[in-house]
Amino acid sequence: MGFTRRGLIATAAAITLSAGLISGHAAEAAYPERPITMIVPFAAGGPTDIIARIVAEDMSKTLGQQIVIENVTGAGGTTGSTRAAQAAPDGYTLVMGHMGTHGAAPALYPNLKYDPAKDFEPIGLAAGTPIVIVARKDFPPKDLKEFVAYLKANADKLNQAHAGVGSVSHSTCTLLTSQLGIKPTLVPYNGTGPALNDLVGGQVDFMCDQIVNLVPQIEAGTIKAYAIAIPERSPSLPDVPTTKEAGLPDYQVSAWNAIFAPKGTPADVVAQLNAALVKALDDPNTRKRILDLGGVIADKPGRSPEALHELVVSEIARWTPVLKGANGK
Ligand code: ASP
Repeated sequence: MGFTRRGLIATAAAITLSAGLISGHAAEAAYPERPITMIVPFAAGGPTDIIARIVAEDMSKTLGQQIVIENVTGAGGTTGSTRAAQAAPDGYTLVMGHMGTHGAAPALYPNLKYDPAKDFEPIGLAAGTPIVIVARKDFPPKDLKEFVAYLKANADKLNQAHAGVGSVSHSTCTLLTSQLGIKPTLVPYNGTGPALNDLVGGQVDFMCDQIVNLVPQIEAGTIKAYAIAIPERSPSLPDVPTTKEAGLPDYQVSAWNAIFAPKGTPADVVAQLNAALVKALDDPNTRKRILDLGGVIADKPGRSPEALHELVVSEIARWTPVLKGANGK
């Protein structure tokens, strides 16, 4: 056989090398090996937080690691989104962005520190969220036509709640009030969770919000819903008319919430996160929780990173002229 010393050293070196390769490979394949942070750029309890917690719960099971929600509020969601854009691109920091942070914000923040279309790896769409026009429960108008007339007659006395300049609630109500030609007083919150509390308490008059935040309160009668701004009624709010039915057909708007990772996150990590999201959206319990709140779940092609990238690009193009023209600040 003739084992030589040199031969043994060479064999040992080869074994060490291949062990290193194997463990190097294993380290990559081990993602995720510790908890993942998902930044929600709004207050806990609001629509973005609700969607994030529902999908994160199921994705955590698939990934075998906890996805921890961190609420980083401020500047209409752009503070938390900036933090995510600047985080290490290692798959351990994600953000639940939305139509505001990744669609409307560039029109309203000249010094925005991220480009929604270039500084993230899109993971996938979590839920579509139609917009509902709501008011405090004792707001005088009894239907949308009266609401429009009342707003036009009393705009300077009315308070409209929103979740910060560039947020969904801000942008979508800016679209509404610019169509009506009015400028109510804007009252900013760190999210529409706290805004909803004040709407229930009667401290503010009305807002435009994502349906998933509203269904329980509308059903309980603690707030009033005037219309939903999509072509068909929502099965979750069958008694709430569409804007088309109720006399404001040009007001059509739906938001969306989607997961993004910092630019440069490895492709296999992006694929793993997307697969976990797609699986969550096929899970009957997760689906039911989103659908019961009025959320809309994309079909399989609509859940891909590529589809989300296209959505972001088209939303920026859509919102920029609307918001620049409306001067929604
Ligand atoms: N996403 C909501 C908005 O933009 C706020 C929130 O989630 O609290 O209005």
